Amino acid sequence: MASLDRDFFVASFRRMAVAAEVNRDEWTRLDGQIGDGDHGINMSIGFREVVKQLDALPDDTDIAGTFKLVGMTLLRRVGGASGPLYGSFFMKAGAEVAGQSEVSVDDLPRMLRAGVASIQARGKAELGDKTMLDSYLPGLDVLEAADLSDAVAAFSSFVERMQQGSDDTIPLQAKKGRAMRLGPRSIGHRDPGSQSAWQLMECFLEGLKGIQS
Ligand code: ADP
Ligand code: MG
Repeated sequence: MASLDRDFFVASFRRMAVAAEVNRDEWTRLDGQIGDGDHGINMSIGFREVVKQLDALPDDTDIAGTFKLVGMTLLRRVGGASGPLYGSFFMKAGAEVAGQSEVSVDDLPRMLRAGVASIQARGKAELGDKTMLDSYLPGLDVLEAADLSDAVAAFSSFVERMQQGSDDTIPLQAKKGRAMRLGPRSIGHRDPGSQSAWQLMECFLEGLKGIQS
């Protein structure tokens, strides 16, 4: 079972920052349809600051400390609902492996489950409310049932299920967040957070491909 060190996670967070730049306009366009049109802008501002923090990351910061730094930065810098949600996601995910200098691929589902549980605790949304949870929750179910001895295959099915979950938000009426105010007019549009969520998790998949090859 491949072990993952701090560098793996730092590289993954840097990849997320690239994803936030590349997809900024698309996430903003989606949020323009059912929200206030700032999701991509929010995420790009947050991840630019994350990169600055990673550039100055002290040598003695461990994996949990790195997750905490990323989470706190997003919480502090990202305006909007998604900042505190993604912020606590990363903080809680990292806290699962506090004190470990390396983690196993086997630890990842537990870390991500803890992160998602904190999104649920903070945002009080449920499956079907047309939020990022509609990609995270079904995706995690798939990941938890997957055979992690092939980590790339397991994470591919995780990300694909998240992507499907995001597609499945299109016919839903929003029950949480800003889009809720639109009522039935939110139907027919993709939830922006469900899209950014799978595209961020895809960055872990890319990292796993790198260590497998
Ligand atoms: P804001 O809505 O404050 O402008 P963003 O545009 O950055 O914040 O993020 C919007 C996204 O946040 C939504 O697409 C949705 O996925 C997610 N979101 C909003 N409220 C909740 C909630 N209570 N639980 C889970 N996710 C939520
Ligand atoms: Mg918004």
